[in-house]
Amino acid sequence: MPEETIFSKIIRREIPADVVFQDDLVTAFKDIKPQAPVHVLVVPNRLIPSLADVTAEDEALLGRMLLVATRIAAEQGIASDGYRLIVNCRSHGGQEVDHLHVHLLGGRPLGRMLPG
Ligand code: 5GP
Repeated sequence: MPEETIFSKIIRREIPADVVFQDDLVTAFKDIKPQAPVHVLVVPNRLIPSLADVTAEDEALLGRMLLVATRIAAEQGIASDGYRLIVNCRSHGGQEVDHLHVHLLGGRPLGRMLPG
């Protein structure tokens, strides 16, 4: 069994977070260190450590994560100007919290995808 992270406690509402959406499959909450005016994390309620750990059985979950991100983007008023979704995967991807999550970033021009 993979070890739980702080995200599981946020999902169970055991520690505070600014939760903007929750359903049977996913929870979305504001990032504690926002890197843009809108910075929301969309996470599966069930612990999956990274994108490299998903299976074909997670197809519906992955679709839900993207759909929820688009709905939150619309609610937050950033859909017309656009936004970026990022999934960091494992060490080379820069993943720090080992609970799969999609970053939704927007509210300002985000520049190039990678520096340089
Ligand atoms: P990663 O680098 O794993 O893709 O991103 C992890 C994100 O989780 C970071 O942007 C970080 O600021 C955010 N984060 C880490 N701990 C907490 C927390 O306790 N609460 C919230 N809301 N965000 C967190």
